[in-house]
Amino acid sequence: MGNLDGYIVDLKGVTDDTVSYRWQVGNDFFSAVQGPEIKQGLLDVALRVKQTSGAYELEFQLKGEVEVSCDRCLEPMSCPIEAQNTLKVVMGEEYADNGDVVTVPEKDGTINVAWNIYEFAALQIPLRHVHEECEQSLSDSSEGERSDPCWDALKKIVNK
Ligand SMILES: [Zn+2]
Repeated sequence: MGNLDGYIVDLKGVTDDTVSYRWQVGNDFFSAVQGPEIKQGLLDVALRVKQTSGAYELEFQLKGEVEVSCDRCLEPMSCPIEAQNTLKVVMGEEYADNGDVVTVPEKDGTINVAWNIYEFAALQIPLRHVHEECEQSLSDSSEGERSDPCWDALKKIVNK
């Protein structure tokens, strides 16, 4: 893993005011995170940290574009990202992540949000991502299958 120390949020440093962070994550970020789906991209990330009755609310805003590979031709294709996600963080004995709430050890009082940023971006990628022109060639070829040689042979038999 590359250096992702820049994405450490110091929760203990958050007083009752809101603390804001802002990052521009690019190809270095995606190669450091080593996520399975996104290899490249450029995103503006804004984070607002609010303290609310013993918990911290982390509001992420992501906007930009990432590159994924097309399901059909495997060539890169860009995918626009615009997302808003909230993560709830509490202090506890040891690190735990149950999906909705992340517990961070009180002695550290920090959380590295690099992976969270990656995941929020990855969530925006449609399950099936195909270039428009690849989608086109797919429907062309399926039309071709309807008059395939086997079907023609069968028609000849029926006509006899
Ligand atoms: Zn394609």
